[in-house]
Amino acid sequence: MTQTILAIDDSPEIHQLLKVRLKNLDIELTHAHCGFDGFDQAQATNPDLILLDVMMPDASGFDICRKLKATSGTRNIPVIFLTGASDVDQKVLGFDVGAVDYIQKPFDSAELNARVRAALRTKRFQDMLAQRAMIDGLTGLWNRAHFDQRMHEEVAAASRYNRPMSLIMMDVDKFKLLNDNHGHPFGDEVLQSVGEVLQDSARTSDWPCRYGGEEFGLILRETDIEGAVIMAERVRVRIAGLLLRNKAQQVPVTASFGVVSSTLCRNPCDLTPKWIIESADRALYAAKESGRNRVCTAERK
Ligand code: GH3
Ligand code: MG
Ligand code: MG
Repeated sequence: MTQTILAIDDSPEIHQLLKVRLKNLDIELTHAHCGFDGFDQAQATNPDLILLDVMMPDASGFDICRKLKATSGTRNIPVIFLTGASDVDQKVLGFDVGAVDYIQKPFDSAELNARVRAALRTKRFQDMLAQRAMIDGLTGLWNRAHFDQRMHEEVAAASRYNRPMSLIMMDVDKFKLLNDNHGHPFGDEVLQSVGEVLQDSARTSDWPCRYGGEEFGLILRETDIEGAVIMAERVRVRIAGLLLRNKAQQVPVTASFGVVSSTLCRNPCDLTPKWIIESADRALYAAKESGRNRVCTAERK
């Protein structure tokens, strides 16, 4: 994906110069002409790198950098200072307020290019690590840490804007027995196949997660209870239809589902991630108790 750079500088000549000097890079360059506009733009567009002038009429680059580093949405965007001053104190202050590098004006074209490329390379690596920390290693689905974060955000959005959201909790049936009969490596393959079904069934706005062990959570945005039950039923049928073989032997796999939706909660004050998860869990338990390989819906509150 093309990386983006935001240049914040009050001088139109500097913007023009950056455009020319960086045109050989596969990047998208955007421009802000004063410090506070730059900060707002950084928040709105989340660029991969900020080139920040030190001296601007409305604010010092150092203050803007401090503000960027103190704000959760912009904290991880690397900043390179564009500085006319050559004294060491200014450069040290730049690093102290959180910059990763500085470039001395007037620019040396090759040096500007090299420093920008190095910062973008590091940013790409940092993004990859951040993404990987959210992914379950076995199934490639979102992991538990991400599930917790998403639940928090989706439930908050649902109660704030009165938009429906739903959660499907799913647990593979008699999985301990499957492990005992066919071995752990085959059990792992089954979990991968189940993960693929979830990934495949989810829309781009859904969050298929591995909750832990053989338990999965599917967070559905803009979905009421009827939509969530249809989705759970579709996944149930697909899992029961998986043709899994251990050597020559066909191994049937089923799963049970507990479904809950924010639309089941009459009082918005009661709508919390804890209530959603506990309700889905109770419904899942009911599905297990009533015979497994089925979908149960949570009770209205
Ligand atoms: P139920 O139908 O009531 O859900 O029965 P169950 O056997 O699926 O339930 P239980 O929770 O007792 O067993 C879950 C098993 O899942 C036990 C554990 O060894 C196994 N398990 C958890 N994580 C993994 C994993 O990553 N790989 C494999 N192969 N097995 C796992
Ligand atoms: Mg189970
Ligand atoms: Mg379990």
